[in-house]
Amino acid sequence: MIDKKIITIAHAMLNSRKIALLTGAGISTESGIPDFRSKKDGLWNRFDSNFLSRDFLYKNPEKFYELALEMFTLLKKNSKVKPNKAHYILSQMEKENMINSVITQNIDGLHKLAGSKNVYEVHGSLRKSYCVFCKNEYSFFLLYRKILKRQIPPLCPKCGNVLRTSVILFGDELKEEFFEASKEVLDSDLLIVVGSSLEVGPVNTLPSLAKKFIIINKDKTYFDDKALVVLNENASTALSAIYDLIKKNK
Ligand code: NAD
Repeated sequence: MIDKKIITIAHAMLNSRKIALLTGAGISTESGIPDFRSKKDGLWNRFDSNFLSRDFLYKNPEKFYELALEMFTLLKKNSKVKPNKAHYILSQMEKENMINSVITQNIDGLHKLAGSKNVYEVHGSLRKSYCVFCKNEYSFFLLYRKILKRQIPPLCPKCGNVLRTSVILFGDELKEEFFEASKEVLDSDLLIVVGSSLEVGPVNTLPSLAKKFIIINKDKTYFDDKALVVLNENASTALSAIYDLIKKNK
């Protein structure tokens, strides 16, 4: 039996001119990457959330990289990280003009790997690193190789200052991509949030810019009471059901 909420979501999508998706760590848990705030497996059950901040990196680079290495070693256990069904469905939905864009807080690059084209990576990605002093850019792998060789903190080959990831840390300013994503939300008539607790700002201001929004998330969020529909379901299960229903009615 098709859930009534799936019907409402499919109906809202069929009646929208332009649709943006906002995804969070929850869409990648089915790829084996833990999120931050899931009650059982969230990373904040094992790490202090303050460590992933700009302040912490600039004041305690050694400790920051000790903890970062520990987190990477844990994530490396799932070294064959691949997009899951939810990423592929969103890419297919874009191809079939059911949605227009994906705004993601994730840094794992899985939306692009699954074939989504119009992707806003508002928290950056794990592809690059740069020097905090001379700002010279390097691949992320250069930084990663250095920490694996225990050069902690990893140092810039050019000027010898500390290297950092291009991923946005707590306390960093967001880049232009976030403002472009905000415009995308303003220009859309529906925003669908998938797999995000909506606890991280300023990304969690995006729903308030939307004409209307829907939330698909396993747990409750502080924005539930303002959403058109809240579906507490697995991302891939929900998105498959929505895709199938839209296909039938298009
Ligand atoms: P979050 O950890 O705060 O919230 C994730 C939410 O997803 C939770 O509320 C949980 O109930 C839900 N969830 C978990 N698995 C799900 C599933 N299979 N289907 C549907 N919902 C599911 O994550 P957030 O809101 O994205 O914000 C935290 C920050 O975490 C972001 O800035 C992001 O950059 C960073 N992060 C990214 C990754 C990644 O790139 N994969 C992983 C961990 C954290």
